[in-house]
Amino acid sequence: MKATRLDKLLANLGYGSRREIQALARAGAIRLDGAEIADAGARIPLAPDLPERLSVDGEGLDPLPGLCLMLHKPLGVTCSHKEAGPLVYGLFPERWRRRDPPLSTVGRLDKETSGLLLVTDDGALLHRIIAPKARVAKRYQVALDRPLRGDEGDILASGTLMLEGEDSPLLPVAFEGHDATHCAVTLTEGRYHQVRRMFAALGNHVAALHRDRVGGLDLPAGLEPGGYRILDAAGIAALF
Ligand code: URA
Repeated sequence: MKATRLDKLLANLGYGSRREIQALARAGAIRLDGAEIADAGARIPLAPDLPERLSVDGEGLDPLPGLCLMLHKPLGVTCSHKEAGPLVYGLFPERWRRRDPPLSTVGRLDKETSGLLLVTDDGALLHRIIAPKARVAKRYQVALDRPLRGDEGDILASGTLMLEGEDSPLLPVAFEGHDATHCAVTLTEGRYHQVRRMFAALGNHVAALHRDRVGGLDLPAGLEPGGYRILDAAGIAALF
């Protein structure tokens, strides 16, 4: 099993500088299996159950690096590290914003789109999910301003629809009508504002957009907007 220096691990998890962590250790604030660790330079095993065994100031350790979260993105927050206004990263504990490697969203949802958003510090996993050749399917529930015409499913399935300003047609999109102004679409690519631009190309306008599935992973019914869960290995496998 891999081991790491305690001060390096805690610094990378955002608990403070190495000097601050040394001070925490000297003050008796860090315990492993109930026993104080006074030496911040101690090597500790990077066991998956470390967050339950190691405590800082009496609280269990934050999730170890290699973290993948599923977030129910609420409306009105932006998938960006830089832009002004409420950001998805503000939904997590403040310390998580100082993690190294940092958390990043897996692709983006628009500010006015809600639903299932993955967030990870694992660059290799992120690229595996968004790689065009992975063709990970994303399903969106769509509310439209105008009634469906009836030919949308055939046009979307044909793989011939062109978006304005682009020079290659969209890959086929699966369409499921619910009623006159509601449907679901499943895409295997992720062009900029794809769903909104698709319905604009079909003479309609998206009034509300919500993503409820990525790969084989559904947004859990009990996960409220703004809530998140750690994805385990089975959840990650369900994406592909
Ligand atoms: N397509 C869009 O238009 N917006 C999103 O947020 C996601 C897909």
